Amino acid sequence: MNLKRAMLVLAALALAGCAGGGDRRTGLERMYVIDCGENHVKDLALWSAPDAGKSAVFRNHCYLIKHAKGWMLWDSGLPDNLAALPGGFTSPNGLITSFVKKPLAESLREIGVAPAEIQHFAMSHTHPDHSGNANLFVAATLYMQAAEYDAAFGAEPQKYNFVAANYEKLRGAKLVKLAGDHDVFGDSSVMIKAAPGHTPGHQVLFVNLARTGPVVLSGDLVHTVANWNAKRVPKLNFNAERSLQSMQMVEELMAQTEARLWINHDPAQGASIPKAPAWVE
Ligand SMILES: [Zn+2]
Repeated sequence: MNLKRAMLVLAALALAGCAGGGDRRTGLERMYVIDCGENHVKDLALWSAPDAGKSAVFRNHCYLIKHAKGWMLWDSGLPDNLAALPGGFTSPNGLITSFVKKPLAESLREIGVAPAEIQHFAMSHTHPDHSGNANLFVAATLYMQAAEYDAAFGAEPQKYNFVAANYEKLRGAKLVKLAGDHDVFGDSSVMIKAAPGHTPGHQVLFVNLARTGPVVLSGDLVHTVANWNAKRVPKLNFNAERSLQSMQMVEELMAQTEARLWINHDPAQGASIPKAPAWVE
């Protein structure tokens, strides 16, 4: 009798434990938000017409996810070799100066993960500030939308402002070529969502964090909170109409799941999110 009663109490406690605190329904354990450089933009005209003539500093992040089934990296930042240039690297047209203060390889070392231990690798898109260190992750399975893959590995990557040298070594990598959404670990905790427009096969990442709550990692769906609020499409986007449709899709996803949008480049929002070696759960 006593034993039965004790077991009932234990079962009730277990249920209470599920309702509050840690979520053990999925294998998702934690996510590190890693500083992956900065772009100093001289003139915002290409990103936000009303801000023409103004300058800005775009933060740049990589996201490392620890799941019971393995490590996943989302975006790979500006190239680590920029760390050797204290004055940064300025684009030939003078518009953007890129800085890396702490290489991604060093941040991963600090966390205790070697690039070869990362089994899953995906980029929001292939622009150089997201694919800068892609060549480090040849051992991982690469998740890429077919349209992005064809643009990046086709005859004219420069037409899309891609720099093939940044990711060339992934040409022979294990590939999951996507034509839409993909549940990376099979438990809905980490979902790639196709969000084309900024580039032909741009994608965003839905991460269902137990304590922080679900978040959508924006890639370059938008660059700033202001652009998101105004649903403003940058002039430099590959396809304006698809950009708007993708924003609409993400807005609906956020409404359904109560997810928040974590905007990779937004200066103010980036400051409010804990950075590696700390993590979010
Ligand atoms: Zn971009």
